[in-house]
Amino acid sequence: MGLKRAFARHASYRRRNLTKSSLAALSFFVIFTAVTLFLINNQRSQYHLKIETRTHDFTVDYLDNLKNVMLQIMPLTNKSCSAAFADLTYQAAFTSGVRTYILVNEGIAYCSSATGSMGLEVTSLYPEINWSKPLDMKLQQGTPMVPNKPVVAVWLRQPGQSNTGVLATLDLSLTPYLLLASHQNDASEMAIVMGKQAATTFSTNLIPLEKLPKNHTRRLTIPNYPLEIIFYHKKLTADDVRLTLLASLVLSLMVGALSYYILMLRQSPERALIRGLKQNEFFVEYQPVFHIAGNSIAGVEALIRWQHPIEGRIPPDLFIPYAESEGLIVPLTRYLFDMIVAEIPQLVQALPRGSKLSINLSPSHLNTPSFHDDVTHLLARLPPDHFILVFEITERGMVEEQNAVEEFDWLRRQGIRIAVDDFGTGHSALIYLQRFTLDYLKIDQGFVNSIGQETVTAPVLDAVISLAKRLKMQTIAEGVETVEQINFLQERDVNFMQGYYLSKPLGIEALVAFCQANCIFEHPMPVKT
Ligand code: C2E
Ligand code: CA
Ligand code: CA
Repeated sequence: MGLKRAFARHASYRRRNLTKSSLAALSFFVIFTAVTLFLINNQRSQYHLKIETRTHDFTVDYLDNLKNVMLQIMPLTNKSCSAAFADLTYQAAFTSGVRTYILVNEGIAYCSSATGSMGLEVTSLYPEINWSKPLDMKLQQGTPMVPNKPVVAVWLRQPGQSNTGVLATLDLSLTPYLLLASHQNDASEMAIVMGKQAATTFSTNLIPLEKLPKNHTRRLTIPNYPLEIIFYHKKLTADDVRLTLLASLVLSLMVGALSYYILMLRQSPERALIRGLKQNEFFVEYQPVFHIAGNSIAGVEALIRWQHPIEGRIPPDLFIPYAESEGLIVPLTRYLFDMIVAEIPQLVQALPRGSKLSINLSPSHLNTPSFHDDVTHLLARLPPDHFILVFEITERGMVEEQNAVEEFDWLRRQGIRIAVDDFGTGHSALIYLQRFTLDYLKIDQGFVNSIGQETVTAPVLDAVISLAKRLKMQTIAEGVETVEQINFLQERDVNFMQGYYLSKPLGIEALVAFCQANCIFEHPMPVKT
C-alpha cells in the first residue's frame, strides 16, 4: 500500500520532471542557437575584415608595381616599334596579370607587346579612357582583338605630353576578384568599380554602376587609383542557420533526455531516501503518552520525520513501508537510534526517571543479522535506569515474522518491553498473541474514534480491553482527540492514553518546553473542557 503510494508520487515526479526537462531542453535550444549564430556571425565578420584588408593591400601592391613597370616602359614611347618591341614583350611577360602593353604616341597606338607594330586611334580602342588624365583605369567588355572578354585598361600618360603614354590591358582573372570568388562558399560577393562599370563575382558581364545592388557591406577606395572595391558579405547563410538549428535540436533533445534521467534518478524514492539520510533530512518528534489516572506523563513515543527539501514533509506511512520493502529499514532505524541518542540529554531533562521511551520497530528488522548488535549498541548509549525502553511492533509483523518468539524473549532479557501496535487492524485474534510475552497493547485509533458512535467497532473495544486485562497486558489508547473519549477510557480502566487532544508529536525543543510547563511528575494535566 505504502509502496504503491510512493510510486504514485513517483508518477507525479515523472510529469513534473518531464516539464522541467522540456524547459531545460527549450532553454538550451534557444541559448545554444543564439550563441552559435552570434559566434558564427562574429567569426565571419573578422574573416571578412581580413579579406578586405588583404584585397586592399594586394590591389595597392599590384597597381604600384604595375605603375613602376609602366614608368620604366615610358621612355620606349620615344622609340620606333621595332626598337621598342623586344623590351615591351619582355616586360609584358614578366608582369603578372598583364595581357599587353601598348605604346601610344599622339593618340595613336603604334606598338603592342602582343601583336607588334600597329596604327590605331586609341579613342576607338578604349573609348572610355580619359586620355587627358595622368592615370586612368577603365573596365571594358572586350577589345577589338579579344571581344566579349572583360579587360581592365590602365592608361599612364607621359608627363607634359598629351595623348602620349603607355596603355596596359590586364586580365581580370588574376585580380583579387577571382581569388575572392573562390571563397564563394563564405557568402561573400564583390564588385570592382572603375568609372561607370563594375566587374562582379555575380555576373560574367560588366554591370553598369547604377545597377549594382545597394546593400553592400563595405566600399573600399584605393588611394591614388580610380578604383573602388565593393564587398557584399552575408554574415549568416541559410546553411548556417539550418545547420545550427539542426545541431541545437539534436543537442537539446539530448540535454532534455539527460536532465530527465538525472531528475528521475535523483528523485527515485530509494535514492531520495539514501540522500535524505546523508543530508540529515530526518529528525524525531516525540508524542507524550499519559497515565489515564491522574493525567501525568508516562513517557513518549518517538516518531520519525522526513523533511524533504522539495517535497516538504513526507509522512512515515509512505516511506517506512517503502524502506522496509527496499531493504533500507535497517540503516533508517539505526539512524533513528542515533538521533534519539543525540537528544538523550534533553530527553532526560524533559522526562522524569522511569518514563517510557517507545520506539517503533519494523518487524522485518527483527530477523536481520545485525538486529542484536543494533539493539545492544543502542542500550549501551542510553543512560542506565532512566528510561524504560519499549519497542512497538505491529500485530501483523508479530504474526508474520518467523523467529518473533525467540526475538521477543531476547529483547525482554535485555530489559526491553514490547507493545503490540495498531491492535485490531491485523485481523489476528488477541488469543493468538498469547504465545508471546507482551507488555502493552496499543488500541488502534480506529477503535478510539468509534467511542460515542453507533458503529460496529464500538462493542469490540470493550472486548479488546477486557481480553487485554485477562492477559495481564497494560493498555494504551492511541489517537485520543476528545474529552468524551478520555472519560470513556477512564471508566474502562485503560492505563495510558496518547493523542492530539493531549499533545501532538513535538520536536525535542518543544517537548522540553511542554514538559517544563505541564509534565511535572504526578501533576494533573490541564484537561480542556
Ligand atoms: P503509529 O505507530 O500508530 O503512530 C501513531 C500515529 O498516529 C502517528 O502518525 C501520530 O502522529 C498519529 N497520531 C497521534 N495522535 C493522533 C491523534 O490524536 N489523531 C490522529 N489522527 N493521529 C494521531 P505518524 O507519525 O504519521 O506515523 C504513522 C506511522 O508510521 C506510525 O504509526 C508508525 O507505524 C510509523 N512510524 C512512525 N515513526 C516510525 C519509526 O520511527 N519507525 C518505524 N518503524 N515506523 C514509524
Ligand atoms: Ca507506534
Ligand atoms: Ca499505532
